[in-house]
Amino acid sequence: MAKRDYYDVLGIGRGASIEEIKTAYRRLARQHHPDLNQSNQKVAEEKFKELSEAYEVLVDPDKRRNYDAHGFAGVEPNFGPQGFTWQNFTHAGDLEDLLGSSPFFQELFGRGLGDSPFGEPHRRSSHVPFRGSDIEISVRLPLSAAVTGAEPKLEVPQLVPCDDCKGTGARNGTALEVCPECDGRGQVRRSQNRGYSQLITITECPICHGTGRRIRDPCRTCEGAGAIHRVRRIEVTVPPGVEDGAVLRLARQGGPANEGGIAGDLFVQILFEPSDKFTRDGQDALTDLRLTLSEALFGAEIKLPTLSSEAVLKVPPCTQPETRFRLRGEGFPRLRSRERGDLIVTAHVDLPPELTPHQRELLREALGSAPAKSSSKRGGLFGGRR
Ligand SMILES: [Zn+2]
Ligand SMILES: [Zn+2]
Repeated sequence: MAKRDYYDVLGIGRGASIEEIKTAYRRLARQHHPDLNQSNQKVAEEKFKELSEAYEVLVDPDKRRNYDAHGFAGVEPNFGPQGFTWQNFTHAGDLEDLLGSSPFFQELFGRGLGDSPFGEPHRRSSHVPFRGSDIEISVRLPLSAAVTGAEPKLEVPQLVPCDDCKGTGARNGTALEVCPECDGRGQVRRSQNRGYSQLITITECPICHGTGRRIRDPCRTCEGAGAIHRVRRIEVTVPPGVEDGAVLRLARQGGPANEGGIAGDLFVQILFEPSDKFTRDGQDALTDLRLTLSEALFGAEIKLPTLSSEAVLKVPPCTQPETRFRLRGEGFPRLRSRERGDLIVTAHVDLPPELTPHQRELLREALGSAPAKSSSKRGGLFGGRR
């Protein structure tokens, strides 16, 4: 197609004022806008580009002077060897009020200028470094690990770029094609006629999910996803004294980055299994001890488990029910410290389920029979309060 004179393209005379140029361009741009010419979009695109080139030259006094003096040769240096491209268009702002909401316009001027914004899919540049994603996982440990520390082995699920297709999802270097559904724009426009009006809705393209490109021949390794699931095994050091629910951050052990980017972080939440023997109260551990009546009465040395091993507790004679004993340093460690909390043992006294007649006789003799009522003045061995 022969190049048409810029004044002819805009339908104006050689002496047109800046205002006339602007008015003519806006009128024609609206008329030939590709969004409004769905049935014949390619032609409309060419037309729109031709208009924009003419406008680019004539609205600029310097370029216009060169054009008037030397024709197309006068503006060639402005555009480079391939002629006018969208990258040379510096007056997009003049149309913003008119076309700013148009998907075409946004694509052309909002998402970077390409020479052929119509048919070309958006390219995801692989040269922009990005940071890998953060990954959060949790690990369950026995409560004793809070004392001893632990080194659990974790399996970290990761989505890593597929090597075989370099993350594109397309088989072995095959090209991506322009999405036929949206023609590379990533959006689809549906219009419904409603009497005299037309309802137009614009939605993300369901075929390419807004990328504007489609894979012709999917990579077999990743089935076109561009990424594969991989499980990475790593060993984590959980130091003694970690609190339940604490989160360890392992810098750069998370999702991988691309070239030049840095990996994300791995966050490991530590959860301790509940123990049937111990409960935690800050640095202290709490446990219960059941004594028989004779152990409580006469005293005893009782072996009992602690968090990390076992200990012998000396129960003195006449130990009252619910007496609390404190075993120093047998609790939980403090993080990054040698200090440890205590193990607090609560003694419960179990009465015998029943007495033989002989036991009853002996006890009655020793303790006296239970006095009637009056809770404040009970006598006998069990009655006195200290
Ligand atoms: Zn599409
Ligand atoms: Zn692949």
